[in-house]
Amino acid sequence: MTLKLHLKPGREIPIVRGHPWIMSGAISRAEGNRQLDEADIIAANGTLIARATVHPSSDIRARVFSIEPGAQLDAPGIKARLQLAIERRQNWLPWGLDTAARLVSSECDGLPGLIVDRYADVLVVQLLTAPWESRRDILIETLQNLLHPKTIWERSDVDIRRHEELEPRKGLLAGAPLSAPVPFQENGLRFLADVENGHKTGFYLDQRTNRQTLSRWIGQLGKPRVLNVFAYTDSFGICALNAGAKSVLSLDSSTSAKELADQQLALNPDCDPAKRDYRLGDAFELLRQFREEKARFDLIILDPPKLVSRKAKMQQGLRAYKDINLLACQLMNAGGVLFTYSCSGLVDRDLFGKVIEGAARDARRAVQFLDNLGQPPDHPRKPGFPESEYLKGFVVGF
Ligand code: SAH
Repeated sequence: MTLKLHLKPGREIPIVRGHPWIMSGAISRAEGNRQLDEADIIAANGTLIARATVHPSSDIRARVFSIEPGAQLDAPGIKARLQLAIERRQNWLPWGLDTAARLVSSECDGLPGLIVDRYADVLVVQLLTAPWESRRDILIETLQNLLHPKTIWERSDVDIRRHEELEPRKGLLAGAPLSAPVPFQENGLRFLADVENGHKTGFYLDQRTNRQTLSRWIGQLGKPRVLNVFAYTDSFGICALNAGAKSVLSLDSSTSAKELADQQLALNPDCDPAKRDYRLGDAFELLRQFREEKARFDLIILDPPKLVSRKAKMQQGLRAYKDINLLACQLMNAGGVLFTYSCSGLVDRDLFGKVIEGAARDARRAVQFLDNLGQPPDHPRKPGFPESEYLKGFVVGF
């Protein structure tokens, strides 16, 4: 017996266009075995349009993993999808030079609710939805057979699991325990992933191509004075120093991030620690203080945490984006360049651009938009699924 979810009229349109989420309000009725966590998605005209994982009480009732009628997330189905995701990364990424990448990016790889990141010989998995709990063993075994990692570590310590009545979870899944942050390479630089306790799965892998873009701009600008705001473990700062920045001032509120930043800096012999200062404190306050002191920089990076986490926080979050961007505009030398980011999925590129325009106008700076910044190929975007483009940024010229 299968499970079928019948959609209300018209609600098949976004799904056919590629959106993988079926909200509870889009479903007219369920038919069949409600114990199952995979279902056929049926349009109001009776056509089977997709196969999806299901959770009975989540607002996102179902997540599409395939548009093939017979597709299943059983052992062979999981293996085939993992293999495809890994092969794609092998074809598209500079393996050998880079030893870290996101191997599986949830809905965008036809594996909703699953993240797999690789840092050298360590795999980190995040299980965001309930169907993965019963498929945990299949997943571990398949990853071991395909990649032979030294360690598989779980970082499912994320709040969104609560939507599917799951507790946060983290720890060793297979292989050798971890004793320290995991070293890996990217674009000739050495970084550390704090797999046990760091943000995300231990590192901001999604800024990979933006780190390269930054390095190119630093080379182009000569010897800029760089301000790296929301620095975390200072990977942008390390790129900037390596590419020839005159100085880097990095700001963050996290003491543990600073400790790891110092360790990471020491791994890169071409980065002179005397040129790097890392200050702990609230970025909004520090930037105001710099403005009072009339400090000036040639290149500023703003990579704040997600400032709009839900729709109800939209206005407040947009004001915060505007605040920091206004301050950056006021601290920028003529001829300088701003790298400004938003990782809020609810703020699209157009809206974020409008916020930057408003900040520049209020600062009375005539700026130019020079380039767009986004996600690297191991964090692909899915057509028809705008939420999959969560990271966006601009290079702004002064
Ligand atoms: N640019 C980093 C990632 C930044 S994540 C990288 O590429 O690795 C956002 C960072 O902002 C976190 O490290 C967090 O500690 C810091 N943060 C959040 N709120 C802050 C605040 N009000 N002041 C300073 N830092 C803050």
